[in-house]
Amino acid sequence: MVAIRGATTVAADTPDEIRGAVKELLNEIKAANHLSVQKVVCLMLSSTGDITSLYPAKAAREAGFADCPLFSSLEPPINGALRLCIRVMLLVDSDIDAVPVYLRGAKNLRRDITKRLVIALDGPAGSGKTTAAKNLAKQLNILYLDTGAMYRACALECVRRKIDLSDEDSVKQVMENIDLKIEYAEGRQITLLDGADVSEEIRRPEISQLASKVSAFGCVRRKMVEMQRRIAATMSCVMDGRDIGTNVLPNTEHKFYVTASVEVRAKRRFVEDKAKGYNVSYDNIVKDIRERDRRDSEREIAPLRCAEDAVVVDTSFMTPEETVEFIKNKIQEKI
Ligand code: C5P
Repeated sequence: MVAIRGATTVAADTPDEIRGAVKELLNEIKAANHLSVQKVVCLMLSSTGDITSLYPAKAAREAGFADCPLFSSLEPPINGALRLCIRVMLLVDSDIDAVPVYLRGAKNLRRDITKRLVIALDGPAGSGKTTAAKNLAKQLNILYLDTGAMYRACALECVRRKIDLSDEDSVKQVMENIDLKIEYAEGRQITLLDGADVSEEIRRPEISQLASKVSAFGCVRRKMVEMQRRIAATMSCVMDGRDIGTNVLPNTEHKFYVTASVEVRAKRRFVEDKAKGYNVSYDNIVKDIRERDRRDSEREIAPLRCAEDAVVVDTSFMTPEETVEFIKNKIQEKI
């Protein structure tokens, strides 16, 4: 069982304001905690004395929390307390790490958790950004989103449907119906296509090139970027990719461009692929990396490039540990 806290405020004591604020708060709590309403054991709400036009519990019932016990109570009149405030506590039948949600005027109640940390790591294949992003997210105890996996899943779906990947109209049709989900289990990102785990399959070397092809299409990028922005809007995360700092999250203050020489990157990929049992040659990997770099940086939409305000991290002569330390120190300087 886990307890999830949240709070929000209303602009005025009217039924519509209360309905809107409670619905928004509960929806954000649901999204941030990947929660299904069926898992909620009970929901308790309290409100300040200036809220008189509607029970917040009634608003919660109307917002879809109809099957669990609901309870509204009045908070004591404390001098200097935030006005027109609604607080909530959900008891949930789950063992997730609860993500509290504080919205509107209530954000100031918990400055410690409402300041989201959103970190963008861009760079070419094999630069070490994924290893750095994973370790960084683990050390900061925040979510890691591998956006490359999303483009890889789009490519895999096109392969499964036997689509000509140079035909944008066919790819567009695939994108209209694709059932792609990103979930997390034991701190690991799971990529699901039609409900099945494809996290391993999308790592196949041939999918790398195909992902680079489909990711050049606007219909693919629009859909993926929308999903990525939705995730970053609700929680602290480290996101790695090619266009995170330049396009997906241009306003984040923590941007890094992770790079390394082609030879170093190819050597890393070669060792990784061999360890996975793939039959690859170093020369082919160099060719593959050069080809992907060219395609990713020359494409018209959101090409791979270093954002003007990004910190460049050349990992050619850095260990993975040194890379994370370097990035962490740069983040610390700003917060
Ligand atoms: O990072 P990874 O090698 O898994 O990415 C696979 C491909 O997906 C890249 O070569 C690139 O073409 C595409 N991609 C992208 N934008 C991102 C992440 C990946 O275009 N944000």
